[in-house]
Amino acid sequence: MSELHAHILVIEDDPTIRHFVRLTLQTEGHEVHEADTLRRGLIEAGTRRPDLVVLDLGLPDGDGVTFIREFRNWSTTPVIVLSARSAETDKIEALDAGADDYLVKPFGAGELMARVRAQLRRHLHQAPNGDSLIAFGDLELDLVKRQLTRRGEVVHLTPIEYKLLTYLAGQPDRVITHSQLLKAVWGPGHAEDSHYVRVHMANLRKKVEAHPSMPRHLLTEVGVGYRFLH
Ligand code: CA
Repeated sequence: MSELHAHILVIEDDPTIRHFVRLTLQTEGHEVHEADTLRRGLIEAGTRRPDLVVLDLGLPDGDGVTFIREFRNWSTTPVIVLSARSAETDKIEALDAGADDYLVKPFGAGELMARVRAQLRRHLHQAPNGDSLIAFGDLELDLVKRQLTRRGEVVHLTPIEYKLLTYLAGQPDRVITHSQLLKAVWGPGHAEDSHYVRVHMANLRKKVEAHPSMPRHLLTEVGVGYRFLH
């Protein structure tokens, strides 16, 4: 696989949207496989072994979230979900189940391609043992020394801020939900306390971002969670 020529499975029952997604991806040089039901989607995913899946959440024979739960048992391939604007909770459920990103209908070709490119890049460049240094902007996060530096100067982080940053920075371009962050940083007993995340995120941004109110690295996904960008 390459970033420029990937096998992409599109699971969507609406023929107009499926056709639009197929044409957009083919224009970019990707090979596209299609499925219009949950059942067919699982079969195609198992036989084609795609590099990426574009998944509609409302399928005639079931919920796209069911697909993600099954698929994540044996694959780490990126999944981008397509959701209706009214289905906010479905979208969060899909991300919690292991989807990587989402697009709200209606979406444009440019938006679709940007998300697809980001996920393919992330998946391709994922180092199996992980990298111990994460550089972004003028900052460097050293996972061995457990410290953040800006042009060589140590930026002091509290243990919570350090955990938040390493969890997000370790999964760039992915949407991480509030509940995923809470589980990872505070533990499973705190899954509902999303104001913890907001308070500590605000403090972390003051230390990391040049303009905390216009963040470039720690982005807010309104009503959903956060996304780290290099
Ligand atoms: Ca549908």
